[in-house]
Amino acid sequence: MKLVVQVKLLPTPEQAAALEATLRAVNDAATWVSQLAHDRRVFRNYDLRRHVYGQVKDRYGLAAQAAQHVIKKVADAYTTLHANLRNGHLGRPGSVRRERVLARPIVFRPGAAQPFDDRCLSWQLNARTVSIWTTGGRMKGVAFTASADQLTLLAAHRKGESDLVCRDGRWFLIATCDLPDVPVRAPDGFVGVDLGIANIANIATTATATATGTGTGTGTGDGVRHSGKTLNAVRHRHRELRRRLQAKATKSAKRLLRKRRRKEARFAADINHTIARRIVTEAARTGRGIALEDLQGIRDRVRLRKPQRVTLHAWSFHQLGHFIAYKAARAGVALVWVDPAYTSQACSACGHVAKNNRPDQETFACTSCGFAEHADVNAARNIAARGETGWAVSHAA
Ligand SMILES: [Zn+2]
Repeated sequence: MKLVVQVKLLPTPEQAAALEATLRAVNDAATWVSQLAHDRRVFRNYDLRRHVYGQVKDRYGLAAQAAQHVIKKVADAYTTLHANLRNGHLGRPGSVRRERVLARPIVFRPGAAQPFDDRCLSWQLNARTVSIWTTGGRMKGVAFTASADQLTLLAAHRKGESDLVCRDGRWFLIATCDLPDVPVRAPDGFVGVDLGIANIANIATTATATATGTGTGTGTGDGVRHSGKTLNAVRHRHRELRRRLQAKATKSAKRLLRKRRRKEARFAADINHTIARRIVTEAARTGRGIALEDLQGIRDRVRLRKPQRVTLHAWSFHQLGHFIAYKAARAGVALVWVDPAYTSQACSACGHVAKNNRPDQETFACTSCGFAEHADVNAARNIAARGETGWAVSHAA
């Protein structure tokens, strides 16, 4: 499985200037190549290279590998763009949006990510430094910070290219690690994860299929609600600030807005990582598998509700699902995606499905058998039960 490790660079002011000049040069070059590709309708890496390789090197002072990476980056960007056009993500044929996209070449920001291969970038993990090619020559001893976990991963599994990127004046290297697949252990029961889409105060609720015989003594996490209170408080603060900044439409206000948005995204990602780690660690410790709501289903369900809130939060739930999935894969924990339809209305005790099983947002009270439970816990139990069924079906033979 592939895993991304992001480390923060700590360049000296001189080093930062050299990195900035380099990133600007490769992205200027990419924009120039992109213009040419657009004008001449040449998009494939091989064809583009024949047209522009020599010029890219000379005009922008790039080394051979850097020039090749620039050309490939442009070709890849157009491949993605064309795929998006084909799939209708950029509007219908003839629509204003689509025509606007088609009329202009792709432009690369000065700080856009640039891939560096092992010939342009080497890692000195013990010293926590890298040596990197710049337009001013090879630059040694650029310091970076990394956790012990990240260093272990980098030492054992880093493979291929790393991306250099500048965000809000901070420098990062994003390395890809290729880990061997961990065999999935046969699960002893499942824990279901109910994502708090309707009730975002609880980002995720976990529970096993039945309350009896689990969750006793050591607090094994049956019916645990992972709170999003701090996240919501931060979001609220950000929203207030955003409103004030949007009122002034100055350039610096816009820049500050962008910065805020990224900060909020980083904060949400941190929380998602923590929740995902807790859920997977608990599942691994108890030998259970994890049942997750199918993400496509989440999108559909969310779309039916308040559309504005969706754009704000939907990606965050996708991210949480994604984090849980890859942490589970790393730990050899079984993972089953389940259909989330009616998990909130169905009784986890008797299976009775009715809208009025939910007298309010928080409560589940079965109108057939009288079973009562917190609504999110009941939903998580249903998801766990579906996970067990799904696993049994797929491993029947
Ligand atoms: Zn019931």
